[in-house]
Amino acid sequence: MKGAFRIGSYRNIGVYIHWTFLLLLLWVGGNSFFDGSPLNAIAEEIGFLLMVFLCVLLHEFGHALSAARYGIPTKDITLLPIGGLARLEKIPEKPWHELVVAIAGPAVNVGIIIILAVVMYFGKGLPLGMDISSMDSNSFLVNLLLVNISLVVFNMIPAFPMDGGRILRSLLAMKLTKVKATKIAVRIGQVISIGFVVLGWLYSPMLILIGIFIFFGAKAELKYTVEAEQRAQMLFVNYELLNAEKENREN
Ligand SMILES: [Zn+2]
Repeated sequence: MKGAFRIGSYRNIGVYIHWTFLLLLLWVGGNSFFDGSPLNAIAEEIGFLLMVFLCVLLHEFGHALSAARYGIPTKDITLLPIGGLARLEKIPEKPWHELVVAIAGPAVNVGIIIILAVVMYFGKGLPLGMDISSMDSNSFLVNLLLVNISLVVFNMIPAFPMDGGRILRSLLAMKLTKVKATKIAVRIGQVISIGFVVLGWLYSPMLILIGIFIFFGAKAELKYTVEAEQRAQMLFVNYELLNAEKENREN
């Protein structure tokens, strides 16, 4: 991706950070600095943000590594201020595989939630506010737990390009054709996106942005699926022609 720089790699999957991500760090750090926060509070805030993006990165690796199991490589993973992006070479053909790849991301966050809950439960009285019973809203780990819960909930919204949209499509595709399944999933996603825009208009402009993002993401997914299906049919037709030609030559 343009404007992104490499920070490392794992299993041949390059990890990139988009430069606007640094802007986010500066903005968060700068905000607390001008609020007159002490240095350790600023460090904690930036540390928290980095931990959130580590959870996002692990989520993306959940998708990438499960796709690798089905022989689908991932070009790269990029961290943007709005979240992570894993670029898979293609979407798994089999609905069952798509289901696993789509679920693997949120499943990573569920794993993190369980680990954090266990640490907080058994870490009573330890430093870092690891006491879930007090539910101190300023506690680093409690906040990290809440972020992971919202990552799961948000990603499970059944609308493309969210993971929930893929899960829905793959479940439908087990009974219907891929194009039909995509059409239904896209329609559901667009109804949800309109709901977001209405809610956003009433409560928060951020929801309007998300709604627009989902609406066009869903449309793009439909276009992609229909085109991929047409390509597959073309290949099939070409193959048939080749076969017919071969048979002609043999006769
Ligand atoms: Zn995901």
